[in-house]
Amino acid sequence: MLKCLECDAEIKPPFDSIEGEIITCSDCGASYELLQSGDKFDIKPAQDVGEDWGE
Ligand SMILES: [Zn+2]
Repeated sequence: MLKCLECDAEIKPPFDSIEGEIITCSDCGASYELLQSGDKFDIKPAQDVGEDWGE
């Protein structure tokens, strides 16, 4: 189970989620990027710096 780093709310990624997908906490609106971690997902805070972010 994933928990929002901001407000500790539970975050449930869709079953068809893919790594790199951005999910949003429904409680506080914080955005996270999904990271595949074995057979489950981790999250890291998404960088909100515009469309050119990334490599
Ligand atoms: Zn939250």
